Amino acid sequence: MWEKGWRDRTWSILDSKWDLIVIGGGITGAGILREGARAGLRVLLVEADDFASGTSSRSSKLVHGGFRYLKNAQFKLTFESVRERERLLKEGRGLISPLGFLMASYQGDPLPRWMCGAGLMLYDLLAFKWGHRYYDAFDMRELCPFLNEEGLLGGYRYFDAQTDDAQLVLRLIQEAVHEGGAALNYTRVTRLLRKNSGKVCGALIKDLAPGGCEREAEIQAELIINAAGAWADELRAQIGAKSRLRKLRGSHLIFPAGRLPLTRSVSIWHPQDGRPVFAFPWEGVTLVGTTDVDHKPNLKTDPAISSEEVDYLMTAIQCTFPDLDLRLDDVQATFSGVRPVINTGKLDPSKESREHVLWYENGLLTVAGGKLTTFRLMALSVLKAAARQIPHRISKTALHNAKERVLDPVSLETLPGEGLHKALQMRLVGRYGVDAAAVIRIAHPGELERIPKTPVLWAELRWAARAEGIVHLDDLLLRRVRLGLLLPNGGLDLIDRIRPIVQPELEWEDERWDQELKEYTQLWKKCYDFEH
Ligand code: FAD
Repeated sequence: MWEKGWRDRTWSILDSKWDLIVIGGGITGAGILREGARAGLRVLLVEADDFASGTSSRSSKLVHGGFRYLKNAQFKLTFESVRERERLLKEGRGLISPLGFLMASYQGDPLPRWMCGAGLMLYDLLAFKWGHRYYDAFDMRELCPFLNEEGLLGGYRYFDAQTDDAQLVLRLIQEAVHEGGAALNYTRVTRLLRKNSGKVCGALIKDLAPGGCEREAEIQAELIINAAGAWADELRAQIGAKSRLRKLRGSHLIFPAGRLPLTRSVSIWHPQDGRPVFAFPWEGVTLVGTTDVDHKPNLKTDPAISSEEVDYLMTAIQCTFPDLDLRLDDVQATFSGVRPVINTGKLDPSKESREHVLWYENGLLTVAGGKLTTFRLMALSVLKAAARQIPHRISKTALHNAKERVLDPVSLETLPGEGLHKALQMRLVGRYGVDAAAVIRIAHPGELERIPKTPVLWAELRWAARAEGIVHLDDLLLRRVRLGLLLPNGGLDLIDRIRPIVQPELEWEDERWDQELKEYTQLWKKCYDFEH
């Protein structure tokens, strides 16, 4: 998607007059860029770090209605989310896939069985889809043989969906760029520019990529959109607005599938506080999460799991699957993200609403809160609010166009590579959209094989290094292909096989490679590993 020299080319057009400048390259910003470009607007997205490096690569990867939000009576959010889930399942095959859930019911659970059943009935009705079913204790153990038998009454099976969050962001940005949008990673907004009246009209940006020589530019737009997630308050503070976000950290443990083999997600009511926790299969590993705690450390550093969160998640998993005798040594990796939720001061963080809000403050339109699942709705509401501020640039027809589809259709027929299994073709189409054929075409012999213990093809590494805007090694290993999460030791055990594929594509001298490797190793140890 981004051929050699793309950064310099994009920097050279920054003095254009943009309709929208979007600050933040997570799912929220990517959705706005996508829908804005589709509506025919001139949109530029700037991201301080890598695309999706904020919360949008650190979610639970569920495209879901959020069954638990029903418990908090967030009906509108659940309704919208299940409708978006259905849409994404239809349009994003290969990237968004159905996922079965088991909700086991035990004596003394915080939610009685009848209430779970009623909730799931409502959940299905909201999606116009009947998928849930009750099983007795014997059948639940047939479906998941490792479930704790003690006190097991039975349980429900229902359906939601999952994705690769970082790839979803990338696909949206890729489609937007194909349609005329522009996006730069490692480009930080260091200051908002304001007119004499105080109204925000642009931004001072700085290139943070090596080779960018910390160049700066003043960029202008009709409207500036703040989609900086958990960092949105920092930008708002520049115009004197007071903080409105609560930063809630959520963390996950990753187990090798061999140690915690699940074919469906298992929902657990945590024995300590009755919060729902999930264990679910994802890309060949099993994730366990999440926590919900106020995040105090400086947000500039990558968030990392605390020992209390590790204990909390281990307790949930050990109580649910006692026969597996899971220990800390079995944990392959961890990851943490920070939810930007609207602060209403609730004592229990999990009770804060996950709905999104918009604030228009002196030329700065902030969008905050929300979920990965509802990115399209958030983008459309941003465009609608933008149309009120710049009606001369956003017409009703443009808004109507924006409602058409969420992801561009790509046919499997367009793929070369006879012999590639249909599931793998689907994976490539889902992840790379119109570029899927190119991923196959550029593969060297043997690179259409899977990397052992993962569903990732070696060719995906080559493609990412060549055409996916990689600036640092962690962009490649943590977000383009997720080997940093899927393999033990952050994928470093395979680095001697990875290097000959990617180093020539990245055109890094040996010295740069060594430096990148050192930095990746340090980052992985600090934020994705923990002291056993
Ligand atoms: P981010 O992804 O954080 O993006 C904001 C970006 O702005 C960052 O990349 C940052 O670098 C950039 N930025 C900040 N300041 C500047 C600046 N000055 N200049 C330029 N760029 C800047 N939702 C679901 O639907 N399903 C789930 O399963 C799910 N699970 C979750 C689990 C956890 C643990 C967490 C924390 C959240 C989960 N969510 C889930 C919610 C979802 O992940 C978030 O709502 C979403 O990722 C937020 O995206 P965002 O784009 O608003 O923020």
